[in-house]
Amino acid sequence: MEVYRMKLLKTKIIEEGTVLSDQVLKVDAFLNHQVDPALMMEIGKAFVERFQDTPITKVLTLESSGIAPSVMTALLLGVPLIFARKRKSLTLTENLLVHQVQSFTKMETVEVAVAQKFIAPGEQVLIIDDFLAHGEAALGLAHIVEQAQGKVAGIGIVIEKSFQQGHRKLEEAGYRVESLARVASLADGKVQFVEAASTVLH
Ligand code: 5GP
Repeated sequence: MEVYRMKLLKTKIIEEGTVLSDQVLKVDAFLNHQVDPALMMEIGKAFVERFQDTPITKVLTLESSGIAPSVMTALLLGVPLIFARKRKSLTLTENLLVHQVQSFTKMETVEVAVAQKFIAPGEQVLIIDDFLAHGEAALGLAHIVEQAQGKVAGIGIVIEKSFQQGHRKLEEAGYRVESLARVASLADGKVQFVEAASTVLH
C-alpha cells in the first residue's frame, strides 16, 4: 500500500507540479493553495504506516501549508493537531513557546509560536511539514517541542528536496526523518526522484 501511495504522490508532482527554478518546486494545484483531500488522506495513511512503531500523542506543523496533510494524519492517529503560528497574532495571548525560523521561500526570518498549554511535558510529538529544504522550519518546531519538555517522535515530510541539506541536518541533530517523496534534482525544469522514475503511475 505504501508503494501505491507514494506513486500517487509522485505522479501528482510530475503532472501538476511546476519547477520554478532548480531550487524551488511549486505544488499549488494540490497542496499549497488548492488542496486534493483524497491525496492528503493517502499522505496521512503513509505517515501513520511509517511511524506505526512510535508512540505519538500530538501532531505539530507550521501554518498554512502543513495543515492539510497533518490534519489527516492526526485524524487517523486519533490525536490533536497543533499548527504553529507564523506571527504573534492578537489572539495569541497565552504563554508562548517561540522560535525564530529562517524562511526558505520568503527569504526572511519569521517568528513561529505555539501556546505553551498545548504541549505538556512528556508529550510525544510528530512534526509534519509540506517541504524539507534546509531544515530550518522542522528544527524550529523541534526546538519548540523541546522547550516544552516534550519529545520529538519523528519528522514526517511530504516532499523532501534531497539535494538540499535539510535531511542530513535533521538526522545529525538526532531526529528520525521520514520523507514520502524525495526529489533528487529540479535541474532543467524537470523533477527527478531519488528512487527510479518507473515508480511513477501513468
Ligand atoms: P526549510 O525550513 O527546510 O529550509 O524549508 C521548508 C519550508 O519552506 C517549508 O515549510 C515550505 O513551506 C517552504 N519550502 C521550502 N522549499 C520549498 C519549495 O520548493 N516549494 C514550496 N512550495 N515551499 C518550499
